[in-house]
Amino acid sequence: MNYNIALLRGDGIGPEIVDSACEVLKKTGDIYGHTFNFTPYLIGGAAIDACGEGLPKETVEGCVNSDSVLLGAVGGPKWDTLPGNKRPEKALLGIRSALGLYTNIRPAKLFPAMADACLLRKDVAEKGVDIVMIRELTGGIYFGERGRRDGKYGPEAYDTEAYSVMEIERIAHVAFKTAMIRRKKVVSIDKANVLESSRLWRETVHRIAEQYPEVECTDMLVDNAAMQLIKNPAQFDVIVTTNMFGDILSDECSQITGSIGLLPSASLGDTTCGMYEPIHGSAPDIAGMNKANPLATILSAAMMLRYSFGLETEAVAIEKAVEDVLDAGFRTGDILGASDATPLSCTEMTAKVLEYLK
Ligand code: NAD
Repeated sequence: MNYNIALLRGDGIGPEIVDSACEVLKKTGDIYGHTFNFTPYLIGGAAIDACGEGLPKETVEGCVNSDSVLLGAVGGPKWDTLPGNKRPEKALLGIRSALGLYTNIRPAKLFPAMADACLLRKDVAEKGVDIVMIRELTGGIYFGERGRRDGKYGPEAYDTEAYSVMEIERIAHVAFKTAMIRRKKVVSIDKANVLESSRLWRETVHRIAEQYPEVECTDMLVDNAAMQLIKNPAQFDVIVTTNMFGDILSDECSQITGSIGLLPSASLGDTTCGMYEPIHGSAPDIAGMNKANPLATILSAAMMLRYSFGLETEAVAIEKAVEDVLDAGFRTGDILGASDATPLSCTEMTAKVLEYLK
């Protein structure tokens, strides 16, 4: 089969890690008889530099007309002083919205070989970490009304958290369906003791839960959830939460599973065209140094094969290659743990995955 993939390399380490994932996809195609055609488009700071806007029309059209999208990351200090609506990160929200990608699936699994890089106490880590976070992606405070105004104490700024019943219902269905093929547990995370939008979130999730009687559904306040993820991550199976809470808690998950350089994500809507990206940012501190861990992006490519193309065997082959590379002891700098071994570069780690891919 032939698959057309739009490549959004973006900024910072984005180009390095996207190129790594493309090599792995190419080899997977060679082994299993598929052709992956890659078309690059500009996004973020790179697009601002080239044509004055973070999300050019050609990029949106190219993504809409492709079978799937692979994204690196956007942003960096060079563009940090731009006004909010001109920043590279705005392009990210724009492309998610343009493609209708309301679901963000973020699996967080502790590979046994990563126990050393995991910051949890040994007895806590040994109970295992295998969580799928379902983050709502096109609503909430990131998309609500915002601005500046004169307030009671002088100039002030505001952002608005708003959720409709429809937005909560559709993400809740994704969470319960995900739980049905896993350990049948959903924890819905909100701040219903304070926020009205969270109270609507909670009552809507409960109503949808009635359609999935086999799934155990509980609520947790976000502050408690931040603590429970460290204290006892084994209690979680599927988490469903809002755009902002999911953004923050999934970075926390990265530290209990080893490194932010290991966690992939899939952003999906109602069609098979999804967008796949690591959960981390553009890591300007290591950009251009060939130090980035490419595994999160490689694992994101595996999610693309699974969710957009239905290529489960091929997805598992990539995930197995990554696990085998880690089991064999190969490490980039971010996952060295206490070891004083020489870390592999981004290109060396990519070569290892290619070597182990069968
Ligand atoms: P970051 O995730 O880019 O980096 C945080 C830390 O993790 C840094 O020390 C970095 O070196 C390290 N890190 C991240 N990815 C790594 C990898 N693959 N291998 C090894 N180390 C890695 O977060 P930040 O520094 O807060 O943000 C930098 C820029 O990225 C900002 O402009 C921010 O807005 C943007 N950002 C973009 C996205 C996205 O495009 N999806 C997401 C988050 C942040």
